[in-house]
Amino acid sequence: MTPRDADLVIVGAGIVGSCIAAATARAGFDTCVVEQQRIGASGATGASGGIVRTYHDDPALADRAALAMNALGSSPEFTRTGFLSLHPPEAVERAVAEVQRLRSRYATELELLTPERLSGRFPMLNTSGLGVGVFEPNAGFVDPTALSRRFAREAREHGARLLEGVSVSAMRVDTSGALELECSLGTLRPRTLIVAAGAASSALLAWLDEPLALRSKGICARHLIAETEHALPCGFEDLTTGMYGRPLGGRRFLIGRPTTDWDLPPNASPPLRADPLFEYALRMRLPRCAAAVSEGGRYAVDGYTPDGLGIVRSSARVGNLFIATGFSGSGVKLAPAAAERVLNWVRAR
Ligand SMILES: Cc1cc2nc3c(=O)[nH]c(=O)nc-3n(C[C@H](O)[C@H](O)[C@H](O)COP(=O)(O)OP(=O)(O)OC[C@H]3O[C@@H](n4cnc5c(N)ncnc54)[C@H](O)[C@@H]3O)c2cc1C
Repeated sequence: MTPRDADLVIVGAGIVGSCIAAATARAGFDTCVVEQQRIGASGATGASGGIVRTYHDDPALADRAALAMNALGSSPEFTRTGFLSLHPPEAVERAVAEVQRLRSRYATELELLTPERLSGRFPMLNTSGLGVGVFEPNAGFVDPTALSRRFAREAREHGARLLEGVSVSAMRVDTSGALELECSLGTLRPRTLIVAAGAASSALLAWLDEPLALRSKGICARHLIAETEHALPCGFEDLTTGMYGRPLGGRRFLIGRPTTDWDLPPNASPPLRADPLFEYALRMRLPRCAAAVSEGGRYAVDGYTPDGLGIVRSSARVGNLFIATGFSGSGVKLAPAAAERVLNWVRAR
């Protein structure tokens, strides 16, 4: 069988496309993955921090992330660090309610910490302006490239074909309603098509003429070296400044803050810029890390949707086309839930 005959073609093998491929191939669907570069090594996945945790102050995101903690929390690519979410005083009530919901629904281990307890437990933190901290001891991070490659290996072991270095240049529906993909190998005619091409999905799907609430945005994580070991002992997000980070091992750690770099081309990689708000947030919240030395960083573009949960649905216009994109800086956590949804859709057809 040649790739032209493949029943189900997935375009894009970042974390989402690879996770979907493992799910569909394991379930016995004749799967072919088309990736223009190397599996898991480019796009947002290739630059990702890979943090996986259940607790979020958004219950819809937490419900999807809980599935990822179950699926990935004991995988060989996972490192447990714990994760601390820092909330302002006005968000305490909401945080407490969400902690109770996650404890009872998923038995997630979560600790609620007052600013006094936070100072005792995490002496590197300046707790001024904080209302409460939520600590999830079993959270951590995965290596997104290694995980994507493991998913791709599993897909191949179940008969999937992996086409690396093959770019899809056009898609269309012919006069009989059959899907056609133009790529460097020629024309593919899959019975089912899954587009999981990250921020490149909008351009690939422009022919569909179907509104997609999808914009591209840059994400930047800086890598720093602190003066002392374990200056940042766990993953964290500071909801008062938007800053997040995780340890990288020894004295090294990564820290990011949301950018305002909207509507960039998918492969954009601008040089790291000075960011006074980032410098302020770091000095204010983690004063012991303020003198850390920069080791550069990672920058990549992801697709964003208004709800931050991604577009995970079939096309309204073409019945055998499914779209899985727009994971809004959370695609590693959202990949297992997206793959489950795709598999349910493929099975139901
Ligand atoms: C710096 C940074 C830190 C992050 N930290 C976290 C985190 O801690 N936790 C978390 O959950 N998420 C995090 N994210 C977000 C997460 O990494 C992304 O949401 C996720 O990787 C998106 O995966 P994807 O498979 O949808 O897209 P991508 O990883 O972008 O993959 C799309 C793939 O499609 C391929 N492709 C595109 N066009 C074509 C074409 N025409 N033909 C063939 N192939 C094509 C690309 O080469 C690429 O490999 C972070 C992202 C960045 C950049």
